[in-house]
Amino acid sequence: YEAKQHELDYCVFDEALQRKVSAERHQTERFLQALAQGELSIALQPQIDLATGQCVGAEALCRWYDQELGHVSPAIFIDIARKQGVLAELGIQVLTKTCSLMKEWQQRYGQLPKVSVNVGAQQFAAPDVVEDFLSICKGIEAQAVTLEITESDLMIDPQLALTVTRRLRDHGFRLAIDDFGTGYSSLAYLQQFAVDILKIDMSFVQAMIKDESSKTLVNTIIAMAQTLGLETIAEGIETAEQAQLLKELGCQGGQGYYFGRPVPPEEFAKTWLE
Ligand code: C2E
Ligand code: MG
Ligand code: MG
Ligand code: MG
Repeated sequence: YEAKQHELDYCVFDEALQRKVSAERHQTERFLQALAQGELSIALQPQIDLATGQCVGAEALCRWYDQELGHVSPAIFIDIARKQGVLAELGIQVLTKTCSLMKEWQQRYGQLPKVSVNVGAQQFAAPDVVEDFLSICKGIEAQAVTLEITESDLMIDPQLALTVTRRLRDHGFRLAIDDFGTGYSSLAYLQQFAVDILKIDMSFVQAMIKDESSKTLVNTIIAMAQTLGLETIAEGIETAEQAQLLKELGCQGGQGYYFGRPVPPEEFAKTWLE
């Protein structure tokens, strides 16, 4: 009891901890305000066909710049959004921005670029998720939009994910499993989920040059994807050596700083579409 009491006193008077808690609360408040005022933006990263070196699409990644806090990493604010139960709202804003950009580009460049957006498990639980997606994407072909769902998010409620992903795919959206290899989905699930693309997690891509077992794993994922008729995209390619090896292993797509970092829409268009 004495030890516990001591711990309690220690916590209450621990100024460093208190400062941390109030900084986090402040960050959360600023984030909720930014979301409510539509201040989030998107950056786009090119997706490259490894065989030809051509840019074949882009991934839209959410960005939050705050006057006071500066650029805050998605690792932090996506987690805040999840905890605050507003990830579905964030997803709607990102998809809306992405779709209006696609329409603009279609008009300006005469062809519709393919874009991927990230979708969190919380979004599946929103009652009208499919209807919302359809109405936001009205006017562009659903086939040009890929929804990326992480393997671990898929496994939070596999039954719900299965139902929603099937409906989305019935409407023409393409589906990708993000960070593949880091979650715990079974082959059986993989076969049931109506996915089109496996995105090989960057941890394996970056380890495979030096680590034989990571290389074997990447090779196995690609072979398995081929068997199931799925496309593969490798994430986090930072060197020519990694790109070359992935190409040799039969991986179709690649993304990473070696090809291009995520950049604001105008810069993306100038670099990759003009
Ligand atoms: P992700 O979807 O797997 O996106 C890839 C992340 O890897 C991005 O980080 C990207 O900037 C980074 N990246 C790309 N190439 C390289 C590389 O060569 N090296 C390294 N070290 N990193 C690379 P970012 O933008 O910080 O996003 C982190 C994660 O936050 C995303 O991972 C995604 O899970 C989540 N996220 C971002 N935007 C959204 C969104 O709109 N909705 C949801 N639900 N999640 C999002
Ligand atoms: Mg992604
Ligand atoms: Mg990923
Ligand atoms: Mg990730």
